[in-house]
Amino acid sequence: MSKSIYKRMGRLMLSHWPYILLSSISALLFVLLNGISIWLTATLINNILLDFDSILKAQSEWAAKEFLTPNESLKYWTNLAILRETPSDSLRVLCLTILFVFFIKNIFLYLKNILLYMVQLNIVKDIRDKLYIHIQGLSLGYFHKEKTGSITSTIINDVEQLQGSLSVAFQKLFVEPINILIFATLLFIISWKLALIAIIIIPLAGIAIIAIGKSIRRKSRRTQKKISHIMQILSETLSSIRIVKAFVNEKEEIKKFSKETANYLNLHLKRARLDLIAAPITESFGVVIGVILLWYGGTEVILQKGLIPEDFIRFILILFSILGPIKQMSNVNIKIQAGAASAERIFTLLDTKPQIVEIKNPINLGKFKRSLEFNDVHFEYQEGSELVLDSVSFKIDKGEVVALVGPSGSGKSTIADLIPRFYDTTSGDIAIDGNNIKDISLSSLRSNMGIVTQEVILFNDTIRNNISYAQSEKSDDLVREAARAANALEFIENTPNGFETIVGERGVKLSGGQKQRIAIARALLKNPSILILDEATSALDTESEKKVQTAIESLMKDRTALVIAHRLSTVQKADKIIVIENGKVAETGSHESLFEKNGIYKRLYDLQFE
Ligand code: ADP
Repeated sequence: MSKSIYKRMGRLMLSHWPYILLSSISALLFVLLNGISIWLTATLINNILLDFDSILKAQSEWAAKEFLTPNESLKYWTNLAILRETPSDSLRVLCLTILFVFFIKNIFLYLKNILLYMVQLNIVKDIRDKLYIHIQGLSLGYFHKEKTGSITSTIINDVEQLQGSLSVAFQKLFVEPINILIFATLLFIISWKLALIAIIIIPLAGIAIIAIGKSIRRKSRRTQKKISHIMQILSETLSSIRIVKAFVNEKEEIKKFSKETANYLNLHLKRARLDLIAAPITESFGVVIGVILLWYGGTEVILQKGLIPEDFIRFILILFSILGPIKQMSNVNIKIQAGAASAERIFTLLDTKPQIVEIKNPINLGKFKRSLEFNDVHFEYQEGSELVLDSVSFKIDKGEVVALVGPSGSGKSTIADLIPRFYDTTSGDIAIDGNNIKDISLSSLRSNMGIVTQEVILFNDTIRNNISYAQSEKSDDLVREAARAANALEFIENTPNGFETIVGERGVKLSGGQKQRIAIARALLKNPSILILDEATSALDTESEKKVQTAIESLMKDRTALVIAHRLSTVQKADKIIVIENGKVAETGSHESLFEKNGIYKRLYDLQFE
């Protein structure tokens, strides 16, 4: 993993610096007050409850002395604030002070956390929005390569994982170290000898913990991949549930899924074992450290070799409070590693460059005026793979209806996809009104086009919103008119809620013919100058077929159209027929001329239409 990932993670945090700053200040105050609260507790136990007289004596001695050690000064100032004439008076003042300190300390604890949480949530929103915007800009080819499940998993799971890691990083790399620093300073002030011993033993614990962290980083990366795999299977089977059922393949699918979940379980268990062993190990190290110091310090006190009970009690209290933060630090590595693995996937997605890009100052196409031309177009889906289109040239004049026919897999849909620049040609160019489409702005190019695909894509929304998709500014009357022209008005009005009827996911509540007519209405409403139509091959009953046919006719009327034709009527009515075979233009002409020629077209015609 490169350093730049951590840098970019840091930059993400810093983009919300005001919150971070406030949270840091709160954290600092919290840590300070935490130290004071522990210091005061030791005062309570020792001075007031056990040894009040000698502390009064000590206090008057310190008051007279010119030079005090740091430890003595701290105690002197504490006593000054707390000490009263009698133990009970002092106890009352101390209790009130402790109450106050704890109260304020917890306010800062809350502030620190809530501010940090706001940063996290904002980062999550930022990244998700950024990813979504980025994905919308990616070219179609990307979505053929990447599975939807894996993209979804990055936006949902990886972002979540990253959020967790960022807050952990802040807490453990900033707050806890300060906590430790302050406590360690106090330890040195109280007894540098004991503190030195502690500082020598504690790092030993760290080494074991770092070793564990490394292994977890690898496991975590694998589990994350697994979960995205499960999501893929889910989204795939859910969207093709009809096929699964039709082929009575539920058992197989269940087996496949359960194998994945079992895999996931195993990987996760391995990770959990490592995750969970970290805490007991640190705890054991902590106790060993504690016992050694207890033994050594206790001996010093018993033999009266310079350590007095008050100092020793305070030392032990602070030492035990420092172990918490140190323990916290122990798995910081693990959490940050897991987050970095997620960040890597997030940044990889963000860094994916769209293949289709606009030139710097693109031409605004305006309304289509004269012609659409393919000039010696070659195309391959991946570099070095087979040529799908091989020197394709043809011209469509404004107002013409051109039918593309040819065997399946010959390259017809590919030709259709090149016109709106879903893909770019490998060589050769496509020109509209004499402008290379690569020089035209994508929005002005695509807004000239209406695309009706074989597989109708509807959103789980109302019929009205499906027809007016991306054209919500169009009036109800226009939507209605489009529906009428698409031969869809009658069935829409027969649904219980008319235009407000929800079509269900991918339009499951509608028949095939109805869906097609909605799609045609959508294209009609857009009123494109160039129509790209992939006629559905799916068999409709004769009546529905007729209705769709009339709808298509009104769609093509007075328009320039390129139709991947499967219907006899469309082919015969076309002004020009282009026969594609193996990615090449094999024949061109009218129905009659090609029929007479008795070539490929005639063969196809006999095969398909008779
Ligand atoms: P048609 O529309 O005439 O049936 P296509 O244009 O869909 O033919 O396909 C032409 C060729 O390109 C086929 O061999 C097909 O396998 C291949 N192909 C289509 N889409 C892709 C893709 N996204 N990636 C790689 N190859 C593809």
